[in-house]
Amino acid sequence: MRHKTFVGQVVNLPHILLSFVILLLVGNAFGQANYDLLLQGGHLIDAKNGISAVRDLAIKDGEVAAVAPQIDPASALKVVNVSGLYVTPGLVDIHVHVYAGTGERGSYAGDNSLYPDGYTFRVGVTTVADAGCSGWRNFEDFKDKIIDRSKTRVLAFLNIVGAGMRGSRYENDLADMEAAPAAEMALRHKGLIVGFKTAHYAGPEWTPVEHAVEAGTLAKIPVMVDFGSDRPERPIDQLLTRKLRPGDIYTHCYSGLRHELDENGNVNPGMIEGRKRGVIFDVGHGSGSFAWRIAMPAMKQGFIPDSISTDLHVSSMNSGMKDMLNVMDKFLAMGMSVDEVVRRSTWNPAREIQHEELGNLSVGAPADVAVLKLETGKFGFTDMYGARLQANQKLTCEMTLRAGKVVYDLNGISRPDWDKLPKNYTQTGDSRWDGITPQRRPGQRPPVPAK
Ligand SMILES: [Zn+2]
Repeated sequence: MRHKTFVGQVVNLPHILLSFVILLLVGNAFGQANYDLLLQGGHLIDAKNGISAVRDLAIKDGEVAAVAPQIDPASALKVVNVSGLYVTPGLVDIHVHVYAGTGERGSYAGDNSLYPDGYTFRVGVTTVADAGCSGWRNFEDFKDKIIDRSKTRVLAFLNIVGAGMRGSRYENDLADMEAAPAAEMALRHKGLIVGFKTAHYAGPEWTPVEHAVEAGTLAKIPVMVDFGSDRPERPIDQLLTRKLRPGDIYTHCYSGLRHELDENGNVNPGMIEGRKRGVIFDVGHGSGSFAWRIAMPAMKQGFIPDSISTDLHVSSMNSGMKDMLNVMDKFLAMGMSVDEVVRRSTWNPAREIQHEELGNLSVGAPADVAVLKLETGKFGFTDMYGARLQANQKLTCEMTLRAGKVVYDLNGISRPDWDKLPKNYTQTGDSRWDGITPQRRPGQRPPVPAK
């Protein structure tokens, strides 16, 4: 055995040297590519850096390498022309339900959830935060089944309920809302657990909110509140002006289910006071949490959301909500500019979950990128009650990059035409920029055929 290894080394050493020389020669012959991928001529929107202008974006090793009015196309291995399109940071959706795969019937820690990769890249989303499907008792199962297996960056608000979102029997059990083990789990998975969630509580007590805030204080992360049933014992103004801390997040802010508007149709003074204190207001559209008759007057009164999120789950995606771009479209339809809509779907939510490396296109940031098209035509947008607003603009996703690689390309703008390729073409990409059909690198094993 030892002898064989020795012989192998003797034989392989010149081989390795020869390969190295060939690589150097090939590299020189084709010029050194400084960048793996160049998105050329798009209208780049980067709220963090105050950019909304035509810019080239160059990527290297999964990170943003350069942003400039013009970058030499010869410096990139791959150039994609995105003129006429918006280039934005990968969208950050901080309210989704993606704890699928447990097999639990009728539960958000099961069948009501979706596998993230099937619903994210196709609409420009590269980061999601699960909103409380798991609690400290089942977070590590969620991590194993979903977070660690997804290409989408999956973060989580941990439910203050230890059992997570397994149904009302669990979610109303005050005895299972302990701050200490929740905080301990969050500290064990710092950066992955970005906050705590309280949701769907039906009782009159403040316990769920108070314990979530206690956990948030221990772990130094925010709390997201779905305020559950409307109870006179715990009015919304007390929640927003006394119970929550600056940086805590009130989701479902245009549901109208908890007096977000008063009887006269004015924004609840508690909402305005809460915002002054630094409480964050998030859309969380869902299947039952966004009504035109609430959102329209609130927006007209200047009460705009801090972040736009979907509350994605199996029923919202086929009802009024549909997907992240549809929720963004609704704010365009209410008069918000593309820049402001993008800010509330990238940089703002990234800051809310304390991930300031995301939601922007600074040099050195992860190259998570959405390439969006603003279409004009006749479109309709429906709310939780099935009421429609007609509008004439709609965002669609042309291409999505995750960590510098193309992971979605609607019209193949990064691809060669088939009839200009060699007759027996097989692979067309390169693993340095292509996350869909990457060419096998020397020494890389061929892909395992699908069973
Ligand atoms: Zn939700």
